[in-house]
Amino acid sequence: MTLPDIAPPLLRWYEQNKRTLPFRTVSTPYRVWVSEIMLQQTRVSAALPYFERFMAELPTVADLAACDPERLHKLWEGLGYYSRVRNLQKAAQIVMEQHGGALPADYDALLKLPGVGAYTAGAIASISFGLPVPAVDGNVLRVFARLYNDDADVMTPAAKRLFTQRVLDQMPKATPGPYNEALMELGALVCIPGTPHCEACPLADRCLGCAAGRAGELPVKPAPKAKTTVPVTVVLVESDAGLLLQRRPAKGLLAGLWQPAAWEKALTKDELTAALAKLGVQATLTEPLPPAKHVFTHRVWQLSGWRGRAGACALPDGFVWAAPEQLAEVYPVPNAFGAYVKR
Ligand code: SF4
Repeated sequence: MTLPDIAPPLLRWYEQNKRTLPFRTVSTPYRVWVSEIMLQQTRVSAALPYFERFMAELPTVADLAACDPERLHKLWEGLGYYSRVRNLQKAAQIVMEQHGGALPADYDALLKLPGVGAYTAGAIASISFGLPVPAVDGNVLRVFARLYNDDADVMTPAAKRLFTQRVLDQMPKATPGPYNEALMELGALVCIPGTPHCEACPLADRCLGCAAGRAGELPVKPAPKAKTTVPVTVVLVESDAGLLLQRRPAKGLLAGLWQPAAWEKALTKDELTAALAKLGVQATLTEPLPPAKHVFTHRVWQLSGWRGRAGACALPDGFVWAAPEQLAEVYPVPNAFGAYVKR
């Protein structure tokens, strides 16, 4: 199946409609890389303040490579998917050791960096270095499924390969960066999930999905897998020294981050008081916490618990009393506890 060239109208539209974004205004390879990692799983509007703060504190690859991991988690606090920032730092250390502190202008070398997959390598290589490689994310898959009126399940490797080849076939070799960015921007602003804005689309006159009246049904995706629901009992215990925080294990979900003391099971008030006593914390639980929910990729936490007071006693390893300013500046607490711990 072939389509007329999409690049000329797409690039014209992009020049007139692209958003002014800080990683476009100053688009060094480092800034493009960090922005692409941040924007995986995060909306642009939510990521922008994080990006500005990250760049102000860690303006170079060397700064990122040398950053204290706890501080790095704090800079990422609230963005979720923390393995992204851990990989970012591992990759920065490799760039320092093996590439003299500059991201390599080479797609295959970029692909070897931790956390850099085909999409991110393609985005950095094309946007920063002008290399003619595709950058195919969920937005671009959606646009191409609709353009070609293609029912293929976009999550399968075969469909991804086919769509990537189509992206490459349509790529103007002189302007691969703007072309890839324009496709992403079209997916973000016009060919959006759900009902696309075909009336405002520069490709409407050549879009097979739109002509067939099927654009809103595409792309085809497999039914989402059922998530496991896990009860989590949380306790917000305050003493004169601050809020009781607990460090999560070094591996697994939300590894190494801090949380209010919590147990992945349903505990009654008495059981919770006893669990705290085992930590040496003699607490009076005063008020139940409102039920809350946090949805991860594969599981759902059903949160509940109690608020209470205790004396400022010594704590076992992995627990601290966090004063309000430490909560704000030092200890990264994931969004999963956002219903109870305000930043
Ligand atoms: Fe998407 Fe509609 Fe444009 Fe086709 S015409 S690419 S469906 S916005």
